[in-house]
Amino acid sequence: MTSALETLRRDFGGDIIEPGAAEYQSARRSRLASGTPAHVLRPKNVRDVQAGVRFAASAGLVLSVRGGGHSFAGFGTNDGGVVIDLSKLADVKITDKERHLVRIGGGATWGQVAAVLAPHGLAISSGDTKSVGVGGLTLTGGIGWKVRKYGLALDNVTAAELVTASGQVVPVSAEENPELFWAIRGGGGNFGIVTAFEFVAHPTTDVFFGKIAFPASQAAAVLQGWADYLRTAPDELTSVAEVANPFAGGPQAPVGIHVAFDGDDPQLAAQVIDPIRRLGTVTGDDVTLEPYADTLADGTAPPPGIQFVPRSAFAGQESVSEVLQILAEVRASQRPPVITVRSVGGAVSRVPGDATAYAHRQAELMVVTTLAGPDPAVEAARPVLDTIWGRLAPHVNGAYANFLASATGKDVAAIYPAHTYKRLAAVKRRYDPGNLFARNHNIRPQ
Ligand SMILES: Cc1cc2nc3c(=O)[nH]c(=O)nc-3n(C[C@H](O)[C@H](O)[C@H](O)COP(=O)(O)OP(=O)(O)OC[C@H]3O[C@@H](n4cnc5c(N)ncnc54)[C@H](O)[C@@H]3O)c2cc1C
Repeated sequence: MTSALETLRRDFGGDIIEPGAAEYQSARRSRLASGTPAHVLRPKNVRDVQAGVRFAASAGLVLSVRGGGHSFAGFGTNDGGVVIDLSKLADVKITDKERHLVRIGGGATWGQVAAVLAPHGLAISSGDTKSVGVGGLTLTGGIGWKVRKYGLALDNVTAAELVTASGQVVPVSAEENPELFWAIRGGGGNFGIVTAFEFVAHPTTDVFFGKIAFPASQAAAVLQGWADYLRTAPDELTSVAEVANPFAGGPQAPVGIHVAFDGDDPQLAAQVIDPIRRLGTVTGDDVTLEPYADTLADGTAPPPGIQFVPRSAFAGQESVSEVLQILAEVRASQRPPVITVRSVGGAVSRVPGDATAYAHRQAELMVVTTLAGPDPAVEAARPVLDTIWGRLAPHVNGAYANFLASATGKDVAAIYPAHTYKRLAAVKRRYDPGNLFARNHNIRPQ
């Protein structure tokens, strides 16, 4: 009888990288996690993905699917199992110039997308970093510099091609397998491997982008004024408050408001950004007109041993004041973690709640804390972090799957309210009854 591995070697046309191979040392790692998988598979086409999935299923091995490899929880690798690394499925092609439809391989990064779209004056609402994968970011959200104007990355998906746990290729859109289309827009990689996405891009000009800084002593007033202004500001303005950043200085470091104005008219931009400048005494202002693609950061791979531990939650309008008051107090303490607050209203909030599996449409703000450093430093900082989240707990809800370093049942319950989870589990039972795709914020089939 032919073994699963023999069948793989016969059917798989991409690279198979195993311990001992020259490339193994780099292939076993994802960006933020190390592992010792038994086989790293780099498919070159959809048939290879089918062969890889069938191999993992029939060999009974743990399967990691790696898009851009940026998962904070380290989903992109494992010990002893299979990694299907999609980095060779990274074609980005404009398929309909009039409707701005773009087909993007499931292993492409946002930098690759921006490089193809920018010469055509097009962009897709994504994240803030070039090296992040289209796959991971989109399947659970996608919050970037155009989020208030064009919504989450997943709001701009019009179709996908997906390989299910049984190795079948399934078309997904509002017309074909609509329930699966609902599920992959928020439910992560639980249902199969997306080998290609179709997005609708939008025209973009250069954008006004930069940071406005205020003295630490004005943090509380600036943050409150910022949130009040964002509530009614035009959607063209997306903004992130850098509340605390121990790498930039202690409690006396300025508070920074990052702005991205989606347009190149200097007068309009000033009209929209100036109310932020009037929130306090501006001590720094580097807002300039630049190509949208240049606003995306390069994204560096940290050396092995450095951990990034983000945690996130959302705040609705009723609790914005309390949340910002707490954060302003926390920033004045000795060693807060990195704290950012993203504005997420605008277009995100206008999509009906049941249109996709993303569950936090009515939030005004997303609070994100990040611990970074070697293990001992991260562990030493955890008590302070727990105190902060303990204070925030009565005023925040939910969690953003893309900014979580763990995947406990509690995490999954924070990401998906019960009715969303129930609907996702029904889709899971249909497309992945054996839970082959489990290296994610897992929806269990039963
Ligand atoms: C430096 C940095 C900056 C970031 N900035 C932002 C930001 O601005 N906005 C934002 O919203 N998020 C941001 N994130 C979070 C990011 O969206 C998540 O880490 C996301 O999971 C990364 O996707 P990936 O494909 O690179 O990761 P991977 O580790 O490859 O994948 C993450 C998960 O998605 C699944 N997956 C990936 N591709 C596919 C596919 N094609 N088919 C099926 N499943 C797939 C994987 O199996 C895994 O479970 C950032 C992360 C980092 C590290």
